[in-house]
Amino acid sequence: MAELRRLKQDQPDLTAAADLQIELLQLQRRIQTRVPLPSIRLEAEYLQGLLASGPILQFEHLSVDWSDLRFLLRATATAMRNHDALDEVDYKRAEDLARQAERLPGIVRTWYEGVRPGSGPVSSELEGLESVLQQAMRPFLTRASEAIMARSDLAGWNRGTCPLCGGEPDLAVITAAADRLLICGRCASRWRFEPLTCPFCLNADRSRITSFASRDGQYRLYACDVCERYVKAYDARRASRPVMPVVDGVATLPLDAAAIQKGYK
Ligand SMILES: [Zn+2]
Ligand SMILES: [Zn+2]
Repeated sequence: MAELRRLKQDQPDLTAAADLQIELLQLQRRIQTRVPLPSIRLEAEYLQGLLASGPILQFEHLSVDWSDLRFLLRATATAMRNHDALDEVDYKRAEDLARQAERLPGIVRTWYEGVRPGSGPVSSELEGLESVLQQAMRPFLTRASEAIMARSDLAGWNRGTCPLCGGEPDLAVITAAADRLLICGRCASRWRFEPLTCPFCLNADRSRITSFASRDGQYRLYACDVCERYVKAYDARRASRPVMPVVDGVATLPLDAAAIQKGYK
């Protein structure tokens, strides 16, 4: 939160986005402190076995308190609407979703199991609300991923999707050794991935990867000229602090705008 406040001071243009993230973090922290461990055997050897046919974390393993999730759905949608990140129609749809006590577990399961590279929205009910659900599920997913990451070695994983939850990366970090670690947009787990291969379509032709940096050189963006998607990276080799996905997600909004202007998505 301190970094988000600093970002606001340094770049006033990002104030609205930073304020939204501060509000979401506050909401999520309130819930996360009481999320129990996932119901999966947390033994290194067992987890390693699951990784071989991964991803590790099945929907059944997640400890989701459905009334907490419904609260988070409503509160997230409200915060996003108040910061102009969600329009009135989608806000109403998010409220409806939060009211579906009986159907919600099935809808969330479809979302959880349905995210694969290149696939479209998982259901018409969720279309346009993916980011609301992703934020609302964050306390449950990060609790599970932290517990598993502490006890497993993900080095053998070489896919472009998350070894724990199967989600897609939405950020990366370039380490001091010039490795690129992808960071899952859902559960925040990290895994090593070939620096110049597209994680979404696995295009490895370097001449068809367009890369550019932010003005200060702190961030890079790798765009794929085959599937036209992109992933941003925090360059930790020239940084005074470690990667912070929430802060870096806001700080790279100008890079997103540049990529979208070039036709990437
Ligand atoms: Zn994940
Ligand atoms: Zn691609």
